Parts: sequence; C-alpha cells; structure tokens
Amino acid sequence: PDALTDMLFSAMKEEGVQVGIGRYDEARMFYRAPLYASGPHPTDEFRTIHLGLDLFAEPGTGVHAPLEGTVHAFANNTGRLDYGPVVILRHATDDGQPFFTLYGHLSTDSITSLAVGQRIERGQRIGSIGEMTTNGEWPPHLHLQLITDLLELDTDFPGVAFASQRDVWKSLSPDPNAIVRIPEERLRNTELSKAETLAIRRAHIGGNLSISYNKPLKIVRGWRQYLYDETGRAFLDVFNNVPLVGHSHPRVVKAAQQQMALLNTNTRYLHDNIGRYAMRLTGLMPEPLRVCYFLNSASEANELALRLARTHTRQHDIIVLDNAYHGHTTTLVDISPFKFNGPGGEGCKPWVHIAPVPDDYRGQFKRSDLEAGRKYARSVAELIAQIQSSGKGLAAYIAETLPSVGGQIVFPAGYLAEVYKHVHAAGGLSIADEVQVGFGRLGTHFWGFQTQNVVPDIVVLGKPIGNAFPLAAVVTTPKVAASFDNGMEFFSTFGGNPVACAVGLAVLDVLEEENLQTNARDVGGYLIKKLRALMEHHPLVGDVRGLGLFIGVELVRDRVTLEPATEEASYVVNRLRETGFLTGTDGPYKNILKIRPPLCFTKSDADLFSSALDEILSENPVRI
Ligand code: PMP
Repeated sequence: PDALTDMLFSAMKEEGVQVGIGRYDEARMFYRAPLYASGPHPTDEFRTIHLGLDLFAEPGTGVHAPLEGTVHAFANNTGRLDYGPVVILRHATDDGQPFFTLYGHLSTDSITSLAVGQRIERGQRIGSIGEMTTNGEWPPHLHLQLITDLLELDTDFPGVAFASQRDVWKSLSPDPNAIVRIPEERLRNTELSKAETLAIRRAHIGGNLSISYNKPLKIVRGWRQYLYDETGRAFLDVFNNVPLVGHSHPRVVKAAQQQMALLNTNTRYLHDNIGRYAMRLTGLMPEPLRVCYFLNSASEANELALRLARTHTRQHDIIVLDNAYHGHTTTLVDISPFKFNGPGGEGCKPWVHIAPVPDDYRGQFKRSDLEAGRKYARSVAELIAQIQSSGKGLAAYIAETLPSVGGQIVFPAGYLAEVYKHVHAAGGLSIADEVQVGFGRLGTHFWGFQTQNVVPDIVVLGKPIGNAFPLAAVVTTPKVAASFDNGMEFFSTFGGNPVACAVGLAVLDVLEEENLQTNARDVGGYLIKKLRALMEHHPLVGDVRGLGLFIGVELVRDRVTLEPATEEASYVVNRLRETGFLTGTDGPYKNILKIRPPLCFTKSDADLFSSALDEILSENPVRI
C-alpha cells in the first residue's frame, strides 16, 4: 500500500492534478489478499474486476452526495483491505425504482453523526476521504459504486468481482460515471479489449503465426513462474523455457535498463561487456570451446553454425534427426524435418540426410536394450557411408542434445559419443543445438552434451540465454574459428551489443546466486516422480521421461501398440489452461505434454500441477 500510494500521488503531483481516477470495470492484479481469493492456490481465481470508480485525493477531502437520497446503511469494515468506514445512500429513479450509491474508505468521523433514514440533499457533504491507517490500508481515496440491487448485502456488497462473473456484477453495479460524469477523455482508457487485440492480430499479423489454445490467452504481465492475463488471472507457467530465471527477473531487467540508458551500439568498437560475457560463457564450457560469435536469435546462430562447419570441412551435406526443428530461415527449414516434411513443406533436399530419433520408448530400440545408444548411432554411420558412396562429404551432424520438438527425448547412454566418433572419422563436425536445454535446466549438468559425456565442435545457444531478451551465441574451437576467418567479414549489427551482453551476464549471476541448476535437479526429480505416480491410475500416461525441469509426458491409447493419444493430449492441454496451468504438446504426433517451466519452479508448484493433471486425466473425455 505504501508503494502504491507513493506511485499514485507522485503521478498526480507530476500531472498537477488534485484528484486521480481509478477506473470502473478495470482488472487489477493487486487484489491478491485471501479476502479476494476463490481458493487457497495462486492459480485460483481472485476478484480482480473493479466495480466502482476510485477518486484518489488527500485524506480529509470532502465527499458530497452527487444525488439526493437517504442514508440506507453505514459501517466500519475494519478488516485489512476491506472498505473501512463505508456509507450507502438510497435513491430512486423518476419512476420510483430504488438504487444505491456506496462510498468506501471514508474517514472514521464520517460515520459518527449519520442516522439510517436521514435525508441527504444533492451536494450535501456526507463525510471525507480517510487516512490509510483507518481506511482498510489503501491509498487515500473514495471508492464510489452504483448498485441497482443490494442483494441484502448492504455494506458488505462487493467492490470487486471475479472476471468469470463480470457481466452479472456489472449489471448489478453499472458505471458510476453515469452520475459523476467525468469527461471520457480524462479517463484515458487506451487498453484494447481482448476481442480488439485478436481482430488486429488477424488483420495485420501473418496467419501462420499460430495462437496457443482453443481459447487464446492475452498475457499482460509475467512474474517469476507466473503469467497474468488481462483479467489479472495468474497462470502457472509450466511451459516456457525462455524465462529461465523467472519472468521479468528484476536483476535482469535492471541490467538491461541501466546499460540501455548508457550505451547500446555495434560491436566494431571495443566494449567490456562482450568480452566479459564471452569469458563467463566459455568458462562454463569444456576446452577447447573458447571462441564465441553473438547473434540475436537461435535461428541466426544455427545458420552461422552451418556456415562454420561448411567452411571448415569444405563439405556441404548435413545429417539431422527426424522431426527436428532448428529455426525458421530458408536453410534451417531445409534441415528441419519437422518443417520440410510437415504441412507446406517442400520435402528433403539432396544434401540433407535424416537419421532416426534415438527414442527408446517409441523407436526401434527400447530402453531395456543396453546397447540402444550404439544401435541408434549405427544408423548415422550408415548415412555417412551413403553420403560418401555418392561421392559427397559430410559437413556436420546437428542435433539437439535432448530433442524437444522431436518429443522431449532423452538419448540412450552412449549415443552421442558413438555418433560423434563416426562423424569425426568422416571428417565432419558435431553441432550441438543447446537452444532448449542448455543453462542448467537439466539439473545434473549445465549443458545437454555433458549428459552424454561428449564435447561438440560447435555449440548453439539461444532462447533462455537472455531470459527472453534477444540474444544467441555460437561457441566453437579456435581451430574451427580460424578456418572461418577466411577474409570474409562476419558481422551482425545487433549481435553481442552491450545491452544483450549485460543481460547475459545478469542471467548467469542469477543462475548462480539462486542455485537454479540445483533447484532444477531437485524440483525436476520430485516432479518426475509425481508424474510417474500418475501412470498407476491413468493408463493414458504411457511414459514420463526427462532430466531436471525438461520433462515429457507421452499420452498413448494403448501401452502395447503405443497408439498416440493426440486428441486427448490437446484436450488435456486446453483443460490445464482453463484451470490455470500453461503447457503445450510436442512430438511428431503432438501427444507429448511438454514441461519446461522457469527454473524457479517450486515443489509446491509441482504438487499443484500434478494434482491438476491428475484431476483432468480423470475427466470423462480422456478416460480409457
Ligand atoms: N533450435 C531449437 C532447438 C529451437 O527449439 C528453436 C526455436 N524453437 C530454434 C533453434 C530457433 O530459435 P529462434 O526462434 O530463436 O530463432
């Protein structure tokens, strides 16, 4: 309340006004006290929709009746964040219909000399604005509400409503500006309704940028592991791996703001941030990964990785994993079977070779086969032999170190070591796409390639690297970097700029200080256990796999045939969204629930999520 008071009254001072307006029908996220909650959990609905008009002014400012009437009720609602001293006047329309006006957060002496039934003239002073200490602990203001039917609630009539009941409460409490008549332009409501936002999106943004969920979400705020929609509803973010250290982490935000205010320019001038960041980043990697290139998106980084490999090997062909996605540029779509074999795709280019996903649940070699890693690696050796027998050469094998789009896959032990051996024997380079899994998410290791005990020639980083600020990197060996330094300049206008590197450094600081890798290991392990327990009662859950906070829950209609439960997965994800949990699906059949929350996820978040999933899996449409 103190901070809010400061903010409001300094804004009023700056604008030179004596009265500040808090709007009717406005969604406010700060109604988070138990008084406003529908249940004990942060994902439960809170009463966020303001049914009155707030007039902020100094305590003691007089409050005068806008209409004639009689005193209907008054009370002192002393609970914290309640109305404090409150008065209700009764009025009548021209045809005798009664209606009411409510005045909340008054001074204590406002209600000492009133009597129920007392006549009040239009313009008559009925009291004054109360102090914070007695008005329910709110910034000093009058809460004015118009009420058509008091529902016998009198001075307990709610001043805020659940968004899910918005229309009915607005019909009981219409806009009080009907009697106050503040000119529209003073209300300065520039917010777009969700319908307007959607219409603008449909008109001006390319249609194949899809919108998540059957009921699209409009997200207006992020904080730690929560996202908030335009009604102030909190969603537990179980899905987004980009806000690695939590949405809008203040440390990261401050680093960006401070550097932005000082300097942001290109990297052809010397600046400490890029060097400092390159040192910190490579310090987290094994030798000889010591040379960095900075870019703005993982697509740019993967593009550059391919250029490095092709320049170094003087070869062109690329081996990729089936269902992989590496980015949205022309060349990256060409190496992404998820795209080129999907809707609108143009098929596989002759220089691209698809290796099977080493999926030890659904693939040819199963988890029980201790040799599965080596056997899947054989298929890469066979592709290499084919490439060579057609007189071509291998530039690189590229794969996510734990495929995400491919279905939240954990490689069988020994797979990458064996693959990299084959690739190197053929003169090719290994590219590890760590875009989704890097930076401690896996808990046991900082990088995905470490879980396979290998050191790639080129590592590609993106997404979480800047906690949602545009930043990406390619890290490679001095040898590969030397081949690439062939006279043609490499330059990315924004890549490695001082703001991006300040952000990158802040993310690493927070990861360390808040022990987030350890948290990912502990909370992730706990969540995997809870999700595996669901398999006992829910035959639909065929497999739960993952490391740390990178988890896949594969839904199948039959645990023997592994028939994918695609529609069921879509149902579950949409129901989770309705109940306050954000997840998504992935894998070639879109039947795998993708769980990759910010690393500040807690055990109680894990409890809350797994019990919500348990309930939804018990619902009729997905019971088998
Ligand atoms: N690689 C992987 C594994 C990805 O998941 C993505 C994005 N989903 C990319 C690369 C491309 O990243 P960006 O959208 O930042 O270009």
